Amino acid sequence: MTETASRSVIVTGGNRGIGRAIVERFVADGHKVASFSRAGDAPDGALGIACDVGDPAAVDAGFAAAEAAHGPVEVLVANAGVTKDTLILRMSEEDWAGVLDVNLTGSFRVAKRAARSMIRGRWGRIVFTGSVVGLYGSPGQVNYSSSKAALVGLARSLTREIGGRGVTANVVAPGFIETDMTAVLSEELVAKYKATTPAGRLGQPEEVAAAIAFLASEQAGFISGAVIPVDGGLGMGH
Ligand code: NDP
Repeated sequence: MTETASRSVIVTGGNRGIGRAIVERFVADGHKVASFSRAGDAPDGALGIACDVGDPAAVDAGFAAAEAAHGPVEVLVANAGVTKDTLILRMSEEDWAGVLDVNLTGSFRVAKRAARSMIRGRWGRIVFTGSVVGLYGSPGQVNYSSSKAALVGLARSLTREIGGRGVTANVVAPGFIETDMTAVLSEELVAKYKATTPAGRLGQPEEVAAAIAFLASEQAGFISGAVIPVDGGLGMGH
């Protein structure tokens, strides 16, 4: 696959896990990459920006800093995400709202800010990191799975709003990927996930990054409003 342009890219949650692999992939492909995280640390070759996606003013300032260095944003990967798992009867208002605010509203905030320059430039790629559990469901995760399911509506409505301006919006839905987020799971649960995943293993962050790099490429201009699984077959049919 050959890329011609070096794009201005923002990846939220780019300092660790899946986001880190996404940043490293875009840097290796020759793009200008800004990575948002709360502390602002970033992989080599990327511009690290301290930005809590829960804070609208910080999002605006983060975009301004990225655009001052790299030009108007052309590719956005809304990847920052958190979990706060517990069964519904024990789930507090804060458990619900905190997860929704980062995973869903944070994605809305960055997409809204990015859409401005993408519409003006008549070219853009927005990719949301969803999850297999958005459509599959997961006990103990009504907050998290609701936030990830809602990203599908966000991507599809955006596609209908601005798809005619050369902007695509898609969701990548990973299955169980080896990162800090899944390192906290018990051995028993990991064994259960492996057994229910046809591939028989957990995925690697680089495998998610590869799908996102494709969706962000020139070649993917006619793919929009799609949910692309990277899950070893776990979510088939959902
Ligand atoms: P990690 O826990 O390893 O990393 C989460 C990332 O999100 C970190 O970079 C973190 O940065 C960032 N982040 C969290 N809250 C905020 C915030 N308020 N503002 C800015 N950045 C924030 O998770 P993963 O790499 O595993 O997950 C990445 C994405 O993939 C998430 O959206 C997750 O839901 C999704 N996913 C993961 C799966 C998995 O199996 N691992 C499966 C399916 C989906 P910091 O805390 O340093 O600020």
